[in-house]
Amino acid sequence: MIRAVLLDLDNTLLENDMEQFIPAYLEVLGRFIADHYPPDAFIRHLMRATDAMMANNGSERTNQEVFDAVFFPAIGRTREEMEPLFEEFYATCFPMLQSLTRPVRIARPLVEWLFRQGFQVAIATNALFPRSAIDQRLAWAGVPVEEFPYHLITSYEVMHASKPHPAFFAEVARMLGRAPEECIMVGDDWKMDIRPARQVGMQTFWIADRKASRPADEPPPDGQGELADFARWMLRWQEGGQI
Ligand SMILES: [Mg+2]
Repeated sequence: MIRAVLLDLDNTLLENDMEQFIPAYLEVLGRFIADHYPPDAFIRHLMRATDAMMANNGSERTNQEVFDAVFFPAIGRTREEMEPLFEEFYATCFPMLQSLTRPVRIARPLVEWLFRQGFQVAIATNALFPRSAIDQRLAWAGVPVEEFPYHLITSYEVMHASKPHPAFFAEVARMLGRAPEECIMVGDDWKMDIRPARQVGMQTFWIADRKASRPADEPPPDGQGELADFARWMLRWQEGGQI
């Protein structure tokens, strides 16, 4: 029985081409930081610290703690010194990136329906960003935190693992107080979302063209299609008397 719905954010709730978004993000960040630090070195250290977070596989430390341990010694500053700058960046520069994204039309009615039906709803985006960056993208997607009381948002402050480690999905289930079998993961990336979620025992819905093919040696997801297809899939599932 499905009790919790885990929604990936980028290219699930929000159209956001990462091949455009990440370079634009780094460029805006580099321009912003140039008044305070050599931007190339800053970005290099940032990428190294991000790699360290991506290696975090359910350790004792949050992803933020892992990031901090690599990043701040490398740039020779403390988080306390840099925090006001980060806050300024996310308040003034990050919003400029909205124009690179587009909401997925069904996202808002789907999230409204999930809450109305009493599901736990988690935003299961990769835990490499601070809450402020995730909250903004949720607003861009038309499903802002001010309106929807999500049961969990997997920001780097709270998670002890990142995708695609199965530990990330196990931690999400634990934080929701659910067995993995009571969770369904909805995401567009086979390697980051679907494979590891299934490895811990979750159900899966792959946001992908219905003709898209998965790796040949792996079992199919429980459902596949656009986000609107997932909404229909949930209705059918519910009508099947399984709730
Ligand atoms: Mg995604």
